[in-house]
Amino acid sequence: MAAANEELSAWLDAAVDPWIACDSHEHVYLINRAAERLLGWTREQLQGHPVAELFPQQFHHQGDQSLVRYLLSRRQALGGRPTKVLARRRDGVEVLVELTVGTSGEGEDERIVLSLRRLHEVIDTIREPMEPPRDGGEARRTSGDDLYRLVVENVPLGIFHYDTTPIITACNERLATIVGTPKRVVVGLNLMSLRDEQLMACVRETLSGHSADYVGDYAAVTSHKVTPVHIRFAPCYNDAGQVEGGVGLVEDVSERRRAERQRDENLALLITLFETAPVALGFLDTNLRYVRVNGRLARINGLPPEAHLGRTPYEVLGEGGSAAAAMLQQVLDTGEPVVGQEVDTQAVGHPGPRRLLTGSCYPVRAPDGHLLGVGVLVEDITQRRLAEEERERLYREAREAIRVRDDFLSIASHELKTPLTPLSLRLATLERRLERGESVDPTTLRHARQHILRMTGLINDLLDASRIEAGRLALHPQATRLDSLVEHVLQAMEAQRGGHELRYERPEHDVQVFADPYRLEQVVTNLVENALKYSPDGGVIHVKLETRGELALLSVKDPGIGIPEDQQKLLFERYFRARNVSTRSYGGLGLGLYISRDIVERHGGRIWVESRVGEGSTFHVALPLLTGAPSHPPASQPERHVH
Ligand code: ADP
Repeated sequence: MAAANEELSAWLDAAVDPWIACDSHEHVYLINRAAERLLGWTREQLQGHPVAELFPQQFHHQGDQSLVRYLLSRRQALGGRPTKVLARRRDGVEVLVELTVGTSGEGEDERIVLSLRRLHEVIDTIREPMEPPRDGGEARRTSGDDLYRLVVENVPLGIFHYDTTPIITACNERLATIVGTPKRVVVGLNLMSLRDEQLMACVRETLSGHSADYVGDYAAVTSHKVTPVHIRFAPCYNDAGQVEGGVGLVEDVSERRRAERQRDENLALLITLFETAPVALGFLDTNLRYVRVNGRLARINGLPPEAHLGRTPYEVLGEGGSAAAAMLQQVLDTGEPVVGQEVDTQAVGHPGPRRLLTGSCYPVRAPDGHLLGVGVLVEDITQRRLAEEERERLYREAREAIRVRDDFLSIASHELKTPLTPLSLRLATLERRLERGESVDPTTLRHARQHILRMTGLINDLLDASRIEAGRLALHPQATRLDSLVEHVLQAMEAQRGGHELRYERPEHDVQVFADPYRLEQVVTNLVENALKYSPDGGVIHVKLETRGELALLSVKDPGIGIPEDQQKLLFERYFRARNVSTRSYGGLGLGLYISRDIVERHGGRIWVESRVGEGSTFHVALPLLTGAPSHPPASQPERHVH
């Protein structure tokens, strides 16, 4: 019997597939080496144990028969085809096997042989490991394996083992979830069939004893679900130290990828906001070195953004940076923001053109509250300030214009009314005398006429000023003797010169200009009238005409009140009257010089004044002389004016 057993044992050991031999009571009495390897038991440990213990509970009975008896009874029907069942290994792992059962002998001599062919290993739910027959040390090892299984099943990573083929021989539930493929499909899968070059390269690395990392998208074989994964590959060794396969630790990185994408999007958004914000922005670390500046701040500082990085404001701006540095330091020291500080770049020695800036600095903190650095917000308010100043100037001018208009209205009405009272008095006197048949005094008539002339003059000035404004003051130039024209004006003014003396100095020769004689008379009259008006009675008015080069020069000099220097350039503006002219003592609308300048300039000439307050004034007019043919086309206008 022993010899027969040995012979059987030798036969069985030579077989590639695992074999188990049982007696008629289905107790193991022999297992071959292949079965030892598959199940993890030695034959000595299993001898005498019911073979049913090698299968999970649910396989122990099929109806009222044991598994073995059931399969024997079905042998005919199966026709030698194996049956798939799970076999329990010593470590509790259940492996899928194909089982065929044979029998020989009868009664007590009956021998039953179970042939197991391993399919693929599946780590399933954790089960109690089989009771070890005797050895307590084995129990400890088994609980170590349990721990390993617990870890494998609970770790938030997918884990798979593969052999050198490389076929996946085991995996945990998590892997099936990650890749969206049932475990029974994953186990038994040949990694080659995935046709993923990068993955295969990793597998090859592990089979040659090295670790490798795979980052990519795993497409599930059945569901085609695509999962971004990171797989850490490592080789597995057998007891002899040879690589017997590998293990892959699979991390589902979809969530991380999504978070990264979200973070990238947020970052892109922030960068866009940072770069396109209509204010200058920057950030400095706690050593007050620039970490980031946007284009606007870089432009204000006069350096490209990258030239700021790692440098202090002092290094970037020189002396001009010390004010900024002090502000930043204050924020670091106090943890409080400094808001809306105005900086004049010129005043602080900032390089580049002068600008007006407002700067705010504020502490930048991490979510846990610790200080990361200082944020800087700078606004260039130069344009705004200039616009404000311009607005203020326009406002001042508008107010001034309103004041001038109001003054003018009161002056104009006063000026126009003034001659009316004496005029009506004189007319009343005349009327009375005529009624009484008395003779009429020609002086009364002359005075009445003078008042009318004065009013006509004022109204003419008003009309001329509005024509000038509208660009419609007509000129009718012709060759004109300026020397005679001046003389004529002075003669005409004899009546109104009062106690003044008019002296006329003129060249021996004729002085010809090409001009509108009526308008030139108006200019000369105005200058002489002003000289009379603004100088004390008895003063001498010097009127001088000379030629110099191509110019005729006329000056009217009086020993009068003079004109304050700051007002001199404004005299020729419309309605302007110098501040030393009180409306009471000196009537006038402030239009004479305005009209005169327009007439002179339109003749190609110039008018200006020299004066000192209290010492008198000299008004000068320069006009081009008429040399041969007229040097310029007549500036006449189609419309005829009323003289
Ligand atoms: P008006 O004499 O009617 O006020 P004008 O345009 O002729 O207007 O003169 C403008 C202003 O110039 C005068 O109001 C006066 O303040 C000043 N001005 C003109 N001529 C003289 C002068 N000869 N002496 C002092 N001030 C003068």
